[in-house]
Amino acid sequence: MEKRILFKYIDDPNQIHIDTYIAHGGYKAWEKTLKTMQPAQVIDEVKKSGLRGRGGAGFPAGMKWNFVPKDSPKPRYLICNADESEPGTCKDRVLMEQDPHGVVEGMAIAAYAIGSHLAFCYVRGEFVKPAALMEQAVKEAYDKKMLGKNIFGTGYDLNMVVHTGGGAYICGEETALLNSLEGERGMSRIRPPFPAVEGLYACPTVVNNVETLAAVPHIINNGGEWYASMGTEKSKGTKIFSLSGHVKKPGNYEVEMGTPLSYLISELGGGPLDGHKIKAIIPGGSSTPFLLPSQIDAPLDYESIAAAGSMLGSGAVIVMDERTCMVWVIERLIHFYRHESCGKCTPCREGTGWLEQLISRIERGEGKPGDLEKIDSICDNILGRTICPLGDAAVMPIQSALKLFRDEFQYHIDHKKCLVKSEFEFK
Ligand code: SF4
Repeated sequence: MEKRILFKYIDDPNQIHIDTYIAHGGYKAWEKTLKTMQPAQVIDEVKKSGLRGRGGAGFPAGMKWNFVPKDSPKPRYLICNADESEPGTCKDRVLMEQDPHGVVEGMAIAAYAIGSHLAFCYVRGEFVKPAALMEQAVKEAYDKKMLGKNIFGTGYDLNMVVHTGGGAYICGEETALLNSLEGERGMSRIRPPFPAVEGLYACPTVVNNVETLAAVPHIINNGGEWYASMGTEKSKGTKIFSLSGHVKKPGNYEVEMGTPLSYLISELGGGPLDGHKIKAIIPGGSSTPFLLPSQIDAPLDYESIAAAGSMLGSGAVIVMDERTCMVWVIERLIHFYRHESCGKCTPCREGTGWLEQLISRIERGEGKPGDLEKIDSICDNILGRTICPLGDAAVMPIQSALKLFRDEFQYHIDHKKCLVKSEFEFK
């Protein structure tokens, strides 16, 4: 069953307007925070909730906020990472388009918790409509005096800026995002220092994903324990999954953490298309290893998906049926990651290019004996040897496909054609 908390009013077209948002209980958490809670209490409540980052890494949000030095004389910044670009993921866009005040309110509470008076929402460049709706929501919040000076008469000031990026996948990585926000080229930074200590303009900065921040008002309204009562022992609350691919009803579904993958695909998504069967499932966005149909009962939480050999990531579940050529899938993915590599470190810059050349020629029917071993070796030399996670993101699906579907790659090389496509192409 869907458990709609962030999505409670997602079907109400008026939810984008502040009056409707307030009529539905919106900005109560913000008022409660400012009037009755100290920043440390807000952090404690979020820690109690067990909320983990929904952008992909799954790092505990309250712990991240706690890393901001309390005694720093520098300004602090809160950034909402709305650069949603992981292929398959389309949940943050929906939150911004259909409940933007939920994101604004979550940002405001998080900013207060870390002692920030300036918050940014960094929106992916291609997200024209979500950026416009976020800007409208921020303006309405200023007009209602939910932002600006002396909010609710408490003496607390908070400004908020919506900033659009240039449309680069790498700017979803928090340090590349910081560079981009500073007006520099979006390239990842070497860590340490971590953003909580030295982030935007070398000041303490917290970067949180849209969905993470949108959960915060609900935690403040209902308490951390309430949120922690949902989900599993270590993966609390609800999560929005973007279901796409070969299913009857693709879409965004909010369910409790720990809901079986099979329930998402078969009950909510209507199951595979008529007459076809599932061949592979990407559970957490295109950078995560594949699962097989035999693993379809895996619970959707960080630990269970890791135990199944993959990652929950951003929650983008992509279903592929038996007509899908895995060589073609991997060729598309490596083309994407090669194109999106920022070029700062050699293993990723050079390695993704070599991988694309090798995999493309196999896909074209021009593969040579020894190509698969070369791909194995390049992947081994990228994994864990790059500045940011993009290098790992590029190779994990390749390694997984070579492990699970190696015979398909070998068939392309040996027969100079695709077994899957020749079976299904014209049916
Ligand atoms: Fe840039 Fe790739 Fe290195 Fe990340 S891993 S810093 S994207 S070159």
